[in-house]
Amino acid sequence: MLSLDRHAQGKLAELEGRELRRVLAPTARLGGARVLRGGRELISFACNDYLDLAHHPRVKAAACEAVDRHGAGAGASRLVTGDAPETGALEAALARRAGSQAALAFGSGYLANLGVLPALAGPGDLVLVDALAHSCIWAGARLSGARVERFAHNDLADLERRLAAGRGDARHALIATESVFSMDGDPAPVPDILKLAERRDAWALVDDAHGLGVLEPASGARPPLQVGTLSKALGSTGGYVCASRAVVDLLTSRARPFVYTTGLAPAAAAAALAALEVLEAEPERGARARASARRLAGRLGLPEPAAAIVPLVVGDPREALRLAAGLEAQGFLAPAIRPPTVAPGTARLRFALSAAHTPAQVDAVADAVLALVARRAA
Ligand SMILES: *Cc1c(COP(=O)(O)O)cnc(C)c1O
Repeated sequence: MLSLDRHAQGKLAELEGRELRRVLAPTARLGGARVLRGGRELISFACNDYLDLAHHPRVKAAACEAVDRHGAGAGASRLVTGDAPETGALEAALARRAGSQAALAFGSGYLANLGVLPALAGPGDLVLVDALAHSCIWAGARLSGARVERFAHNDLADLERRLAAGRGDARHALIATESVFSMDGDPAPVPDILKLAERRDAWALVDDAHGLGVLEPASGARPPLQVGTLSKALGSTGGYVCASRAVVDLLTSRARPFVYTTGLAPAAAAAALAALEVLEAEPERGARARASARRLAGRLGLPEPAAAIVPLVVGDPREALRLAAGLEAQGFLAPAIRPPTVAPGTARLRFALSAAHTPAQVDAVADAVLALVARRAA
């Protein structure tokens, strides 16, 4: 056997022993929170399509028209092959919604963070990252070469202490956090973080991946760097950053995952733009997703969620897998989230609620969870 395969198999066996191996399950999303897996239709709580827009007729039509006009892919980097008008129109709409001067689209939200942080921070700078921030924020911060420090989750006092200690030696300081945390669903105190950043002469990046379309934008809270994704509430694929004209112009020249990668497919941009229009015309979609999340949390006796994410922390990855399998057997899809996506000892079921879920579906999954938990306790 090749030593490479031996290496991979050894690593896999080790992951398997800790219940941390991950595998793919062929699944067709049907829209309206329904999916088809193994010949069975399930109700999905596993998808970040919070507003149920991926299957919206206007969104699909916009994607199809863009494919007809421009073909399936962008052809090259937007700087090389020229810019599809859909992408510029999407960026203008994103900037308008964010109250910023400009926006820049990336191939994904992951790539946006991987591009923005290293283009703006580097050796000699200090980047402070919330302890529960998404993997791609950490990856971007580390790639920047700046000194990276983790501050305790949503802890303004810890953040201030670290800025007070480290700001003096750093040329620039940048704080990176999320508007709504992806695996816990709780919000960051964004207005307070912006005030602190201002006071300590630091920049702030807020990743709005799970906020857009779900949370009302906090009035007056306009982070100078607003990162987001086209892939969740907008039902498409891609990522973006909204910022000042100067920052966006700099990123256009210097963000490597923008410069050296093929542009966002015009169909993805067109779909996201159509979704943004639906989102703005029908803000009640976000309210419905939030109401379903509150209903589920209430039924499960969990704290009231701010957005559309409800985590049920069980601790042990085996138990999270058991609950997920038990739910799937009863027709519900809710993913077991295990380390390293979340901290060791905090494996969980993560429910993503959407505008498509009915109160009856929410009640049914809650009853199924409670029965499974009770069976374990008995
Ligand atoms: C999902 C997510 C991303 C990545 O976005 P993609 O478009 O899926 O790559 C980035 N940041 C946060 C906080 C996320 O939850």
